[in-house]
Amino acid sequence: MSDVDQKVSEYYSKLLKRNAGEPEFHQAVAEVLDSLKIVLEHDPHYADYGLIQRLCEPERQIIFRVPWVDDQGQVQVNRGFRVQFNSALGPYKGGLRFHPSVNLGIIKFLGFEQIFKNSLTGLPIGGGKGGSDFDPKGRSDQEIMRFCQSFMTELHRHIGEYRDVPAGDIGVGGREIGYLFGQYRRLTNEHESGVLTGKGLNWGGSLVRTEATGYGCVYLTEEMMKANGDSLQGAHVIVSGSGNVAIYAIEKAQQLGATVVGFSDSSGWVHTPEGVDVELLKQIKEVERGRVGDYVKHADNATFHEDGSVWDLEAAVALPCATQNELDESHAKNLVDKGVAYVAEGANMPCTPEAIEAFQKAGVHFVPGKAANAGGVATSALEMQQNATRDSWSFEYTDERLQEIMKNIFRATADTAAQYGHENDYVVGANIAGFKKVADAMLAQGVI
Ligand code: GLU
Repeated sequence: MSDVDQKVSEYYSKLLKRNAGEPEFHQAVAEVLDSLKIVLEHDPHYADYGLIQRLCEPERQIIFRVPWVDDQGQVQVNRGFRVQFNSALGPYKGGLRFHPSVNLGIIKFLGFEQIFKNSLTGLPIGGGKGGSDFDPKGRSDQEIMRFCQSFMTELHRHIGEYRDVPAGDIGVGGREIGYLFGQYRRLTNEHESGVLTGKGLNWGGSLVRTEATGYGCVYLTEEMMKANGDSLQGAHVIVSGSGNVAIYAIEKAQQLGATVVGFSDSSGWVHTPEGVDVELLKQIKEVERGRVGDYVKHADNATFHEDGSVWDLEAAVALPCATQNELDESHAKNLVDKGVAYVAEGANMPCTPEAIEAFQKAGVHFVPGKAANAGGVATSALEMQQNATRDSWSFEYTDERLQEIMKNIFRATADTAAQYGHENDYVVGANIAGFKKVADAMLAQGVI
């Protein structure tokens, strides 16, 4: 074992002890530390001043009670979180997730990923994440509003344009951002547009923010395919999920000439051999808040399946856009057997470490979420720029900026991988490129 290996494994075993019972956080850190070994062999000064240990310890973790009254008049109690992980590059930035699976470990994994993702965008944003174990499924609009108001009643004292700027994630979209912003405005008596992103278009929101994560993932995929002499034109694509990221990944992939052959949600998956009717999918998921099984009732040539998974299908491109650890080793091997050539993560950490290894061993081009799904937060940073100058940009201009950012992320990822002797390993490339910018800023700013 080299000195670097020894040092990094010591950091990691301490981290496991200090953060017991947080497997997703361990998984996210293990992947980054693995890449950092390569950096430390070349540039040992990145281990100075406790840099790695500081990077893995959130600057601040806030946990709070969120009491609210349901439609039956019963008091419900949820738990709220905001993990302010790293602000070396700018104010903390990252979404809020409302889902019953949320706990501190999940928010820490997401916040940790967000540091490197935000750094890769090239924009001045630090990393943070928050959310609650509140389950929005089946809740009325009134209940969602009361929950959001209670959540913000505590959160408001910890956020601000220059401090921490939350946005959406799973379970938090335009409706929730509206209720959260309304309560923030009421509590502070200030219309501080820059405190949240993902706002409505007539009160400080940005065009393209809704589409940005899905579109960005596809822009990056197209760039990677071009670099290998391929294109989405005529390609078959599988997209898992059917939420905000999946819908706009499907829309953009099909606009670029691909056929999306399947999508899913937690109730099952839909096979669409002739492509997806995106307007129908939007109607079901965004307007009616229904399930994917409803899609086949209105679409010809589509079938709904509860058994197996969307990864049983055959396609050249796979875009996991649902949730963490949704694609495991057996799914990866299945996709490889059926000829998948490109995988880009639209969700945060949707592939297990074993799945990533299976893809990379088989020569599949694999881009991790911190690069592939950075388009959402990048466009949030563009929303912050518009808010700061009280401006609003056209769709075309904002979309051009997004395309440029995604191309730059792919270039930085691929070039960094090659520079460190790991050509085509986009995991190593994204981790190192994201890390170096944050690390340089932290070293320059002293031990804090
Ligand atoms: N939740 C998104 C992410 O995972 C977007 C965060 C944001 O716009 O701040 O990056």
